[in-house]
Amino acid sequence: MGKKGHLFIISAPSGAGKSTIVMAILRKDPALRYSISYTTRPPRSNERDGTDYYFVSYAAFHKKIDSGELVEWAEVHGHLYGTSARLLDDSLQLGYDILFDIDVAGARKLYSKYPEATLVFIAPPSMEELKRRLAKRGADSAEVIEQRMKNAKAEMAQAERYHHVVVNDDLDNALSEIEAIIRKARLHG
Ligand code: 5GP
Repeated sequence: MGKKGHLFIISAPSGAGKSTIVMAILRKDPALRYSISYTTRPPRSNERDGTDYYFVSYAAFHKKIDSGELVEWAEVHGHLYGTSARLLDDSLQLGYDILFDIDVAGARKLYSKYPEATLVFIAPPSMEELKRRLAKRGADSAEVIEQRMKNAKAEMAQAERYHHVVVNDDLDNALSEIEAIIRKARLHG
């Protein structure tokens, strides 16, 4: 059997610029595959089923929990999100390295099952900047933004559990930092 793929788990408060970073990394790195999660959250206008997420009903999600299909799952901002063990294994069998974009609770669970994984936390330059970015995105109501800010504070407190904390004050710098982390993990892993 060949060498098993490396797992890179990225977490960040929403608005920290994670999606942009994740997309840019994936575009440049064909050996890296994105772990597409299941979620009960409705799709945003720019999202596609099977690319950003697999969008499913609560009933379908609960069926996956009951059948043990999810290697981890968590409730974030009132919606359920989870990683399929089967999709993950398929990607690993094909020899890919896998990139996860999951919350801090999911990261902890996944890391307990895959202790060789690399944990990367993307932090916004400041909480004020985070709020500005969330408002600018225009995707969420004021109430949702408040909830996301509250959640962000709790998530920031978890950053110290990660192997790497990358501050996203400049996109290109943040990208190079993460690319260096990936290169190093591959060299040593
Ligand atoms: P959003 O709704 O903004 O796409 O994502 C909200 C949060 O859910 C983000 O912190 C994201 O990382 C997290 N998330 C996305 N997919 C999963 C998953 O499969 N498992 C867990 N635990 N969190 C996820």
